Amino acid sequence: MGQGHPECPERLDAIEDRLLSSGVGDALDRREAPQAPITDLELAHGRMHVASLRGLTDGLREEIEAGGPHHAQVDPDTSLNVHTWEAALRAAGAALAATDAVIAGELENAFCATRPPGHHACRDQAMGFCFFNNVAIAARYALERHGLKRVAIVDFDVHHGNGTENIVAGDQRILMVSFFQHPFYPVGGARSMASNLVNVPVPAYTKGPEVRELINQQWLPRLEAYRPEMIFISAGFDAHRDDDLGQMGLVEADFAWITQRIKEVAMRHSKGRIVSCLEGGYNLNALALSVEAHIRVLADL
Ligand SMILES: [Zn+2]
Repeated sequence: MGQGHPECPERLDAIEDRLLSSGVGDALDRREAPQAPITDLELAHGRMHVASLRGLTDGLREEIEAGGPHHAQVDPDTSLNVHTWEAALRAAGAALAATDAVIAGELENAFCATRPPGHHACRDQAMGFCFFNNVAIAARYALERHGLKRVAIVDFDVHHGNGTENIVAGDQRILMVSFFQHPFYPVGGARSMASNLVNVPVPAYTKGPEVRELINQQWLPRLEAYRPEMIFISAGFDAHRDDDLGQMGLVEADFAWITQRIKEVAMRHSKGRIVSCLEGGYNLNALALSVEAHIRVLADL
C-alpha cells in the first residue's frame, strides 16, 4: 500500500515470528496459497471488477516503465502496486484451497494468513485495503462447487464487513453474523438489510464481557437454528484494545473465547469444518498474540 500504511507486509512477519517463538507453528500443517482461478473470483464479483483490477495493474506497469509512480490509488486508503494482483489472487486462492482441504476431510479447519484482506471488497468495488472478498468467494465456492446447502460467515473485525454484506445479502444459503464498532468506517451496517444478516453494531470502547454477552444473545441462537454445514470466519483482530485503527477493548482471551464458541457450533452442525481468513489487525504485537490465541483454539493446542 506504500510507506507507512498500516496494512503492511510486517503484519504477516509478526504472525510468523510469533508462531515460531511460541512453538505453535510446529503443530501446524502449512501449505502454500495457490492463485485463485478468475472464474472462482466471479462467484462473488462482477466480471468488470476483476477485469478493471487487472487493467489497473497492467496500466501501472506501463506507467512505471515511463517513470511514473509505483502505486495506483483505488480509494483514499487503498492503493495497489504491481504485486497486488498476484497477492490478491493468492489470498483468495488460500481460502479456496483451505475449503477444498477441509471439505475433503484432510484438515478439520484452516487459518489463512493472507494479505490483502477482503471483507470490504464489494461485488463491483475494491475499498478499505481490500480487492477481492476472500471469505465471500470461498463461501460461494463451497456452495457452488462442493454442493453444500448452508454455510455461515462470522465476522469479528472491528469494521463492518460491508463488502461481504453487499455480496451475500439476500442469499439464504449464507448466514452472516457480525459485530463491529458503530458509528465508524465504513458508514452503514447499523441495520441488517436482509434476513440472512445478523448485524450487531457496538459503540466505541466496548469491552470483552459486553461483546461476549451480545454473541451469546444474538449470534449463537441464529447459528444454532441455521445449522451451517461449514463456517467461514472473517478474522480481523483490530477490535483489540491496543489497535489504533479501532477503539474497542478486546484482548487475546476474548478472541479465544469467540473462536471457541464458533468451534462448538461447527462441531455440532458442521463436522468441525471452519476456514478462517485474516482480515484486519494492525498493532503488530496484538495481532500476533491474537492470531496465536485464535489458532490455539482451532488446533486444540
Ligand atoms: Zn478492520
